[in-house]
Amino acid sequence: MELQGKRITVIGGGIGGLAAALALRQRGAEVRVLEQAAEISEVGAGLQISPNGQRVLDALGLNLDGAMRARAVSLRDGRRGTEVLRLDLARLGPEQAYHFVHRADLIALLLTAARDAGVQISLSQTVAEVRDDGAPSAVTTDGTVWTADLIVAADGLKSLTRGVLNGAARPRFTGQVAWRAVVANTCAHPPEARVHMGPGRHLVTYPLRGGHLVNLVAVEERDNWAAEGWSHRDDPANLRRAFAGFGGDVPGLLAQVADPGLWGLFRHPVAARWHGAGVVLLGDAAHPTLPFLAQGANLALEDAWVLAACLDQRGVVPGLTGYQSLRRPRVARVIAAAQGNAWKYHLRNPLLRGAAHLALRAAGRLAPGRMVHQFDWLYGFDVTRDDPARK
Ligand SMILES: Cc1cc2nc3c(=O)[nH]c(=O)nc-3n(C[C@H](O)[C@H](O)[C@H](O)COP(=O)(O)OP(=O)(O)OC[C@H]3O[C@@H](n4cnc5c(N)ncnc54)[C@H](O)[C@@H]3O)c2cc1C
Repeated sequence: MELQGKRITVIGGGIGGLAAALALRQRGAEVRVLEQAAEISEVGAGLQISPNGQRVLDALGLNLDGAMRARAVSLRDGRRGTEVLRLDLARLGPEQAYHFVHRADLIALLLTAARDAGVQISLSQTVAEVRDDGAPSAVTTDGTVWTADLIVAADGLKSLTRGVLNGAARPRFTGQVAWRAVVANTCAHPPEARVHMGPGRHLVTYPLRGGHLVNLVAVEERDNWAAEGWSHRDDPANLRRAFAGFGGDVPGLLAQVADPGLWGLFRHPVAARWHGAGVVLLGDAAHPTLPFLAQGANLALEDAWVLAACLDQRGVVPGLTGYQSLRRPRVARVIAAAQGNAWKYHLRNPLLRGAAHLALRAAGRLAPGRMVHQFDWLYGFDVTRDDPARK
């Protein structure tokens, strides 16, 4: 079809870039990935892959051994350590698989599959300039000009290419910081995501790698902020202090944290322009999201499939337009839903919090199915359906 023999350069070897490289290669494109890091590796952390992202992995022919199937999402009163609402994921149906995966395992799987399929991976290549002037190209810091028929920019949260297409935009601090850490599973954490809610803060925990590890993401509201990024470390005493009033398994898990990462959470607008004539954005580069719905990587996987399908079925110019018009409303809706979650978890007023917890408990008892099926629009979404190239 249209992608056969097209030369495509992908900037960024993260989840979005590698998934796009594989999807494009599987449809016949000649693909090269330029990654700034000297090796493609991932910091230890977990990822929730929901059914909408899992369908893309399935369609790409990938099987994540070692991923843990999630049974439930449990919203909990952080202080009491008791459950407020249980979303039984089995109610989604057997074909709707929700998994907890180690980011490093997903990256390794995508990287191996991309290499095996014939994708060229060029490491230690930092793109300093992207040109969209009739001969799309990426210029690396050593002066090499990589020309292609199309540049796919999956260069993440701090995308250089988003600025090239849209001009500079200042992200807005959300008033929240997040710590993350992975610890040993000393509390027999069941295969469920637990959201431990408290005033102005919440902590998400879920098991990884056969249940040997527990992934922690802890969010606290703050006036002052940490710089945006993934690589800031913090004293674990600060994390323990922030969650000192929490009960249940929380103190035991936090006691093990040695060297947590800390970062500020920023709100970025969804890019207005996702593509030029020969350059296109994908994943966080187009639409960074807050982590409150665990959808950033899932959206990047959806993007990768839709981009490859649109280009293959329609050719480059109409394909790029089709990709943006299919993806923008979807990601805007998901991002808005993620932004809405934080305040629900963080209610400060004890009366309001008590009433909200009572209402959730009652809804969970009276209509457990409805509580899960409110997410059908999110998890039931299938970008691979009706695609003639579906393997
Ligand atoms: C705490 C936390 C928890 C999360 N949990 C989940 C979850 O459970 N489920 C979920 O779906 N999502 C989750 N996410 C979001 C998810 O991790 C991201 O949305 C996803 O990784 C984005 O992938 P990406 O490929 O677009 O960008 P990235 O993963 O950021 O990859 C970008 C790549 O581009 C490279 N790069 C950047 N600039 C250049 C350049 N100039 N030249 C060359 N290379 C370059 C980088 O080195 C990097 O490898 C979470 C995020 C956070 C912060």
